[in-house]
Amino acid sequence: MGSTSLWQATAGDWRPAPPRATPSRAFDCLIVGGGIVGASVAYALSQEKPAWKLAVADRRQVGGGATGRNAGFVLAGTADHYAVSVAKYGRATAREVFAATVASQRRVRDFLARRPAASCDYLPCGSLTLAGTDAEAETLAQSAALLREDGFDVTFIPHDPLGRGFRAAIRNARDAGIHPVKLARALLAASGAAIFEQWPVTAVEVAGNALLARGERGALRAERVLLALNGEAPGFDAFFADKVVPTRGQILVTAPCARRLLSEVVYANEGYEYFRQLPDGRFLFGGGRRAFAKAEVGADESPTSDVQGFLEAFKNQRFPELAALPVERRWAGTMGFTRDGLPLMGRLPGLDQAWFSIACHGHGMGFGLEAGRLAARMIIAGDPPPLFDARRLDAAATVSGELPG
Ligand SMILES: Cc1cc2nc3c(=O)[nH]c(=O)nc-3n(C[C@H](O)[C@H](O)[C@H](O)COP(=O)(O)OP(=O)(O)OC[C@H]3O[C@@H](n4cnc5c(N)ncnc54)[C@H](O)[C@@H]3O)c2cc1C
Repeated sequence: MGSTSLWQATAGDWRPAPPRATPSRAFDCLIVGGGIVGASVAYALSQEKPAWKLAVADRRQVGGGATGRNAGFVLAGTADHYAVSVAKYGRATAREVFAATVASQRRVRDFLARRPAASCDYLPCGSLTLAGTDAEAETLAQSAALLREDGFDVTFIPHDPLGRGFRAAIRNARDAGIHPVKLARALLAASGAAIFEQWPVTAVEVAGNALLARGERGALRAERVLLALNGEAPGFDAFFADKVVPTRGQILVTAPCARRLLSEVVYANEGYEYFRQLPDGRFLFGGGRRAFAKAEVGADESPTSDVQGFLEAFKNQRFPELAALPVERRWAGTMGFTRDGLPLMGRLPGLDQAWFSIACHGHGMGFGLEAGRLAARMIIAGDPPPLFDARRLDAAATVSGELPG
């Protein structure tokens, strides 16, 4: 188990009514995994099927996985620059994927606007995507042109707007920062789902005309089950072994810096590095795994001296004024990478009403609420959304863990 993240330490009190006994009546839907995806599915189901009785079980606490261990960037798009996405998926699919993340951002804003008390530390600060090389600057220029042609409002900047030695940038004014654990909790509170924390599920099986989710603390009966296990899915069911690569991501956070040096959330070097200055002045730096890609595959949530050393060197090179500030917190989390960089949704073979929505390839805060809506529709309608249907991988080649995020 890794160290506690800033978000987990600052999310405040959370006392969902503890389930004392497992209820005799089956839940209409049990969601296994209380991260941003599980929480978004619960919220979307509560909107679409208000009469359904929902439950969420997590082997740790809500936000105990990647959702509580990320950087809190709510970015449009995928880990790839848009020109790379267009080359990889084709123009129409790349556009559809980008539009899904834009829709997700809108859903976050709408959700928060209807609940002024649940601010979730949302910061409509915009983002900068910075090119570390001339080649990447060219890709950014192409990406900005393609995005604008496809109706997405971004600005290409042919120099480094931060003056930190980068080559060019894209500014996306709609991107944002957020407190990811507060958002997951707020979605779950709004969904009315029963929350089973510290509740590992070990197997899902058919029991009469319902499903039984078994675990050491008891069995939960449900008409339908949705697995939202992210990078831990391969450890749960061999079905995911060739589909998801658990990949470690690492972060450090400094003591507060008295000067405000940065307002946007920043994605740099093809997404391999990212940073933001938090409202209290602290700097968060994440990434740094490109040179250590093999060692970073797996579900171990311990920070390593290699990646943390890289992140410190990156921080001090780009922001020499931060060099004397102590690093106050370091943590790691597990991302779920997929072969093609897109989330996976579908039905578990052999179990008619057991569904999954997993592996957002390092961008679950960006896909979150739209992934939740699409997965809820899948459960209700009985069909995965074509864009994220896991069956697309059936004919594809081996899993790659070498992708940014
Ligand atoms: C260091 C780092 C930085 C990142 N930065 C960003 C970012 O800035 N923006 C962004 O969009 N994305 C970011 N990501 C990716 C993002 O965090 C994930 O894509 C997102 O949180 C995935 O959400 P999820 O709900 O699918 O998974 P998770 O949040 O991982 O939730 C899965 C849950 O399932 C539970 N679980 C697993 N197995 C079981 C079981 N057997 N029984 C019960 N419960 C179980 C886990 O405890 C966990 O809580 C980052 C990830 C990392 C690690």
